[in-house]
Amino acid sequence: MRQLIAGNWKMNGESASLAEVEALACWAASSAPPADILICPPHTLVARAVVIANGRIGIGGQDCHPDKSGAFTGDISAEMLQDAGASAVIVGHSERRQYHGETDALVASKARAAWRAGLVAVICLGETEDQRLAGQAFRIVADQVAASVPQDAIGMTTAIAYEPVWAIGTGRTPAAQDITEMHAHIRECLGSVRRQLRVLYGGSVKPDNARQILDLPNVDGALVGGASLRALDFQTIVSVARPGS
Ligand code: PEP
Repeated sequence: MRQLIAGNWKMNGESASLAEVEALACWAASSAPPADILICPPHTLVARAVVIANGRIGIGGQDCHPDKSGAFTGDISAEMLQDAGASAVIVGHSERRQYHGETDALVASKARAAWRAGLVAVICLGETEDQRLAGQAFRIVADQVAASVPQDAIGMTTAIAYEPVWAIGTGRTPAAQDITEMHAHIRECLGSVRRQLRVLYGGSVKPDNARQILDLPNVDGALVGGASLRALDFQTIVSVARPGS
């Protein structure tokens, strides 16, 4: 399976940051990268990033509302992202779950909204540190897979990002064996129909640990936060992806 390296800019980036998209897209066009590339800038930059990327890399949103349109001040629909040229959208990021109270059921409805608009849904899930310390990580992740990944998800329309909450933005990563075991567990939970989904790892992926993580069995790519803000760092991560078809 060809790996996917997705960058989540979070609430970072203004017009000047589009130079990073340009640099990354130029690099991608000239160097046949071993993985698919997706950058998810803030919504204000999506349309311009799409023009700059010019098909050389994918551009996505960071969230969407389940509905197509309506009285939802401040929200954005999957259709609006698609209209701006996005090809994917992140849903259920732990920061949305934590600061906006998003439930698994809401995340599943956002994934369906993404499909309705023709976008790939990157569905995030992962345990907190307390849950891991209490020995509940496998159960929590199984519950999240059951409730936030629709049964009819297929590899063309959906990717999972396993992001242990305690590893996001902290510089800490799980042991290699823990990542391998959790990814195998997620695959098991997905069952035979959803087995083709890419399962990305996210949480403090950096240029200096990317190769080790991307080489692990069952790791089909990465969701990268901080290290996606600079094209050079992100390129370094993409270039150590495991080549696949
Ligand atoms: C993320 O925001 O999804 C993330 C993984 O962030 P970071 O790489 O900075 O830990």
